[in-house]
Amino acid sequence: MDLSLSPSEAALQVKARRFCDEVLAPLEDLVADAGHLPHDRRADLRRAVVDWGFTGINHTRADGGCGFTVLEQMLVNEQLGRASSGLWAAVWQPPIPLRFGTPAQKEMYLRPSCRGERRGCYAITEPGAGSDARLVRTSAVLRDGLWRISGEKWFVTSYDACDYIIVHAHVDGDPGKPTLFLVDRATPGIRHMGSPRFMHDYIFDHAELVFDDVVVPPEQMLGGIGQGLELTKDWFVEARLQIAAHCIGAATRAAEIAAAHAKTRVQFGRPIREFQAIEFMIADMAVDIMAAKSTLYRVAWEIDAGIDRKSVHARASAVKLLSSEMAGRVLDKALQVLGGRGYMRANPVERLYRDVRVDRIWEGTSEIQRTIIGAQVAKRGIGVYAGWPGESP
Ligand SMILES: Cc1cc2nc3c(=O)[nH]c(=O)nc-3n(C[C@H](O)[C@H](O)[C@H](O)COP(=O)(O)OP(=O)(O)OC[C@H]3O[C@@H](n4cnc5c(N)ncnc54)[C@H](O)[C@@H]3O)c2cc1C
Repeated sequence: MDLSLSPSEAALQVKARRFCDEVLAPLEDLVADAGHLPHDRRADLRRAVVDWGFTGINHTRADGGCGFTVLEQMLVNEQLGRASSGLWAAVWQPPIPLRFGTPAQKEMYLRPSCRGERRGCYAITEPGAGSDARLVRTSAVLRDGLWRISGEKWFVTSYDACDYIIVHAHVDGDPGKPTLFLVDRATPGIRHMGSPRFMHDYIFDHAELVFDDVVVPPEQMLGGIGQGLELTKDWFVEARLQIAAHCIGAATRAAEIAAAHAKTRVQFGRPIREFQAIEFMIADMAVDIMAAKSTLYRVAWEIDAGIDRKSVHARASAVKLLSSEMAGRVLDKALQVLGGRGYMRANPVERLYRDVRVDRIWEGTSEIQRTIIGAQVAKRGIGVYAGWPGESP
């Protein structure tokens, strides 16, 4: 079993780390002060992503992306996760369901998105539909050959950076017909109700939108009628793996800062690292990161090796649950090791502490991940998670 990275994977990791240190880190204070990245700084950042070659890192070369393996994508995302305030979102990763678009849709949405000329956001959640997407009330009705979409969407991340929205609606209001639509942001009838502030600072916004009889031509339906939930599942899988990688990057940076501080901070005549209470926190952080990182890399490798779609879905939940809960524990300990300094806004650990809290909520809460994992174990046995590829049963 050779678990080491290849020279090209290691080089990609180094490049992503340099991108984080040289491009994202200098923007951290700006985003933390403003609560978002000011609009006049966005074009430069977009150009930097293009110049560094991180355009469409999650799509194939044929679709205009980088053609990275899943492991390579995770290596990049892990490094991006070191940056606080959601700066990782600077590197656009066009939602994976676009891969299933028609040739015309790919030409109009996916390829320009990979190039960074367009950007999409994803609108599923509503006031009455959170964990249970079947409760979506947004409806799409076909009249005179055109779709008319009406409803309300909440928490739409990166709305202020996007020019189209992937809207999850129910055709004829029927929960049995969940369907996705590509809706250009400038389409009449879309009302921006506001973008509330959240616990974290984030480079873009999280908008509340009303769709009031928004007219969309039939060629802007993504997939078929009733395929919305399946396509959204693919997005969840991808987003869950990305979140896991960001969490590992954030936790690693925080643990490094805490460990360095513990070495130099002297109280009661010695570095605080020499107190076992501190040393044990550092040890727990290191082991927690090791477990999550090992699992993420293994699962990425398995996906690249071609495991079936159901297993990918099952694994993504485990990786997201493990990594997001790990990040919560590690950030809490890192802050404790830093004492009052860890609680200061200027400290990256304070910002990362707030950042990782949402990772237990979005793209399926920890409880929903446990529900998925529990159902898999009930159906296929504990070996789905406790087993190892190639192991005899
Ligand atoms: C900052 C941010 C950005 C977001 N971005 C987007 C976005 O871009 N697009 C989008 O569509 N959505 C987005 N979301 C929404 C996010 O996906 C939802 O918040 C999430 O799915 C949970 O839904 P909810 O908030 O309605 O909580 P609820 O579903 O109401 O859950 C409340 C509590 O009940 C628990 N619960 C619910 N059902 C069960 C169950 N079956 N078993 C056990 N416990 C359960 C939950 O785990 C949670 O603890 C975003 C959210 C946030 C906070």
